Amino acid sequence: MAERHGLTHQEAQEQLRRFFQAMPREIPLLLFCDPGKNEPFAEGARQLIRAIREVTDKVSLREYSLGHELAKKWEATASPTLVFADESLQIRWLGAPVGHEVQSFMEALAIIGFRETGFSEPAAKTMAKLEESREIKVFVSPSCPYCPQVVVNAVRAAVARPELVSLQIIDIQANPDLADQYSAHSVPQAFANDKLIGLGAQPEELFIASLLALEPQQFFIPDSDAEEVACDLIIVGAGPAGLTAGIYATRSGLKTVVVEKGMLGGQIATTPMVENYPGFTQVGGKTLVDILVSHALEYVEIFPGEEVQTIEPGDLFTITTNRRRYRARAVLLATGASSRHLGVPGEERLAGRGVSYCSTCDGPLFIGKKVIMVGGGDSAATEALHLHQIGADVTLVHRRNRLRAQERLVDALKQAKIPMLFNTEVTEVLGEARVEGVRLRKQGSDQLSTLPVEGVFIAIGYAPAVELAVSLGAELTPAGYIKRDQHHRTTIPGIYSAGDVEGGYKQIVTAAGQGAEAALAIFEDLVNPYWVAKKGGQAGGK
Ligand code: NAP
Repeated sequence: MAERHGLTHQEAQEQLRRFFQAMPREIPLLLFCDPGKNEPFAEGARQLIRAIREVTDKVSLREYSLGHELAKKWEATASPTLVFADESLQIRWLGAPVGHEVQSFMEALAIIGFRETGFSEPAAKTMAKLEESREIKVFVSPSCPYCPQVVVNAVRAAVARPELVSLQIIDIQANPDLADQYSAHSVPQAFANDKLIGLGAQPEELFIASLLALEPQQFFIPDSDAEEVACDLIIVGAGPAGLTAGIYATRSGLKTVVVEKGMLGGQIATTPMVENYPGFTQVGGKTLVDILVSHALEYVEIFPGEEVQTIEPGDLFTITTNRRRYRARAVLLATGASSRHLGVPGEERLAGRGVSYCSTCDGPLFIGKKVIMVGGGDSAATEALHLHQIGADVTLVHRRNRLRAQERLVDALKQAKIPMLFNTEVTEVLGEARVEGVRLRKQGSDQLSTLPVEGVFIAIGYAPAVELAVSLGAELTPAGYIKRDQHHRTTIPGIYSAGDVEGGYKQIVTAAGQGAEAALAIFEDLVNPYWVAKKGGQAGGK
């Protein structure tokens, strides 16, 4: 006899009946339609709900025209719109759950009826961090097998935080105008507060991380509850030096963690375009960061949003952050550098109001507007080109008569015909509530002029972040960087450095190289501590 696969219709109905019997909540559905508009979709919705009602009366359906006052209450404007009429939720289906969307709809009923999101613990913890409202739109089509995953993620989010999250599931065939408006010409696509947060299917953790960040995320870092973390090596800073060191140290067998107080990737995260990292002719800074972080996460645990407050020496170092404590045998300071300020009147007061240190972040606000870029190095040149490319009217202002940027970048500036004011200093940023102009002085003259601009971008180099090293008593170089030997050992045994905080060429590739060198040196030192060897002879020791 042939083996029977699957369930008979009766068996399936019986299973569904039992499922709905166990469901603690009733789900009233409202269908809003305009007669004759998208009728096949409306009929599809009716048929599905009729079939469900054959096994349960916990799901009910009432139908109204779009002109009915209830349509206003439930914000139904498209025909058909199916509303989950639960006062505590804000979930609407524009179109009808047909094809693959039947699966999404059944899962939505289960999530809503049982009020169980089914989120993984890390996803639930991340979702709990949401503090501002999110209006999610998920564009789907009945023939898309990847769409149900995104719909389910979004329904879970809307049920987990109903006070903040509203959801529209939008069938692009029933709503082509809306799909055009969002350029949603492939599915699934998810938007939150009108920003794209996901293209294609995403695991729930990435969906939630993207929902919080309001941009698509490429990796997910779970939150840790640990009060104390023990490791061989703690790396402070998740720029290219710190991340590379993490990969090398773990591969050498050291239990390694990375803590980062600011942006993962450090300065690269806000670099518009990188053209000199081997293996990539051109790569966006943020993309390179995503690749580096994803790679590092294969090896190390990263603790983002943690600022190291103290490092206390002892048999083990005790590192205290704003979140927890770490005990480590060695510490690598890969703390990088932060943007230098001009120090002129108006700069601090108008920071964030037209004064910016990040063209990638703030450039789009100045499209079509007049701005200046201050500086003459690689950063100023790269960022001026970026501002020009996105459509800002940018002028480069440099204090000397020639740029120190690479020739290739200088050529690109000339080719783009970006105006350059040489031998010119910015002496003041002008404006009340926001930037209205700058006061300029020609070098060697006392004459001041005023240039009306709406934005002042500043890229005049970086100051090394040496505070932790100084607090430990580590020596600095005359130029103010961390003093270290060829093994990246600072003057404090067990404390190492790598990357821009050491000075030198300050390239991504050199920072990565220094991270690798430091990690290998640390591994060798932990196997055979030089400070113990030194103790026998001269001074030393932790
Ligand atoms: P930088 O090379 O130190 O250049 C800083 C620029 O700002 C210089 O032109 C300097 O003028 C000017 N400056 C400094 N203080 C000033 C002040 N108070 N007022 C007005 N102007 C001032 O800094 P960066 O361009 O940020 O680059 C930092 C490092 O990153 C460099 O090693 C660079 O090669 C690297 N980087 C590389 C790339 C790339 O390879 N594509 C991209 C970005 C950065 P002077 O010339 O008169 O000193």
